[in-house]
Amino acid sequence: MTETRHTRLLIIGSGPAGYTAAIYGARAMLSPILLQGMQPGGQLTITTEVENWPGEVSIQGPELMQKMEHHAREMGAEIIVEHVVALDLSRRPFRAECDSGAAFTADALILATGAQAKWLGLPSEERFKGFGVSACATCDGFFYRGKEVVVVGGGNTAVEEALFLTNFATRVTLVHRRDSLRAERILQERLFRNPKITVVWNHVVEEVLGEQAPPGVTGVRVADVATGETRVIPCAGLFVAIGHAPASELVQGQLEMHHGGYVKVEPGSTRTSVPGVFAAGDLTDHVYRQAVTSAGMGCMAALDAEKFLAAEAGGSAAGLAAQ
Ligand SMILES: Cc1cc2nc3c(=O)[nH]c(=O)nc-3n(C[C@H](O)[C@H](O)[C@H](O)COP(=O)(O)OP(=O)(O)OC[C@H]3O[C@@H](n4cnc5c(N)ncnc54)[C@H](O)[C@@H]3O)c2cc1C
Repeated sequence: MTETRHTRLLIIGSGPAGYTAAIYGARAMLSPILLQGMQPGGQLTITTEVENWPGEVSIQGPELMQKMEHHAREMGAEIIVEHVVALDLSRRPFRAECDSGAAFTADALILATGAQAKWLGLPSEERFKGFGVSACATCDGFFYRGKEVVVVGGGNTAVEEALFLTNFATRVTLVHRRDSLRAERILQERLFRNPKITVVWNHVVEEVLGEQAPPGVTGVRVADVATGETRVIPCAGLFVAIGHAPASELVQGQLEMHHGGYVKVEPGSTRTSVPGVFAAGDLTDHVYRQAVTSAGMGCMAALDAEKFLAAEAGGSAAGLAAQ
């Protein structure tokens, strides 16, 4: 028989947004339940050093996420390994169904299901993720001071990443499979003017080359899309900038979206188009996509949910959240 549990506040997702919402929700005495999903700890569990989380000069991504989980549990959040396969936001309480058969109903819901970078899908790319292959120049650019890097892609993100990387790298090669970029004209002009950047047109990355002990990238093999001819571009890092996909399938058709699937929230809040449903982190954010901004939005979502529930109850809830 399917077990259905009710909670005042259900949080879906266990990245920085979800865990921060759980910490604030628990401190507001809302006894939140957090469902972790298939990737407990979220995207940071697939990276190595994180050097931009305030208070930690350098910390491994998985360790940072274990600390957040521990913090949320200590505050009283209930954290459960469940993956949600269906959500019903059409009536309250909201209902979440999980792949195990378990179901949860909730008076308020925080969505923090994040996003996933799109990858090239090469086995060699997989081997060097976190060891020279990255999908985030803001996160990892600093590690490539004085080195050469390659960026793959042709849209705004790829051009912005390439420009940003010139702050660190001695040379940036942008590899694009077509003969023109999709990026905005002003970005393209900046790119073409930058003496550190070379564009390799009509090429695709075929393989990431590197060493295993210690693991590190030494170059990429690219192929001409017309002739199939290959050559190696030496580099210490490969940045894949071919887009991100927000994990919003569960709420498609139920919540307003923008920018190709990101959940829309009211400016300056985490309120979605359905009262009582709040969204935080990369799921809503196609611009910043950082752990610290996601955590900030997780905090906002818990405060917004607490206010929503308190207003419904006709008074103020415990009100601890903001302290
Ligand atoms: C390789 C890499 C390195 C990075 N390095 C840095 C860095 O150095 N510094 C930095 O600030 N940022 C970095 N980032 C970006 C950072 O990881 C993200 O901005 C941040 O993790 C987003 O947090 P989030 O809470 O929104 O979601 P995510 O971290 O994406 O977590 C989403 C969560 O939702 C869960 N979930 C998804 N679908 C379901 C479902 N159906 N049911 C239940 N749960 C579900 C997943 O299991 C996961 O726990 C990096 C990203 C990558 C990929």
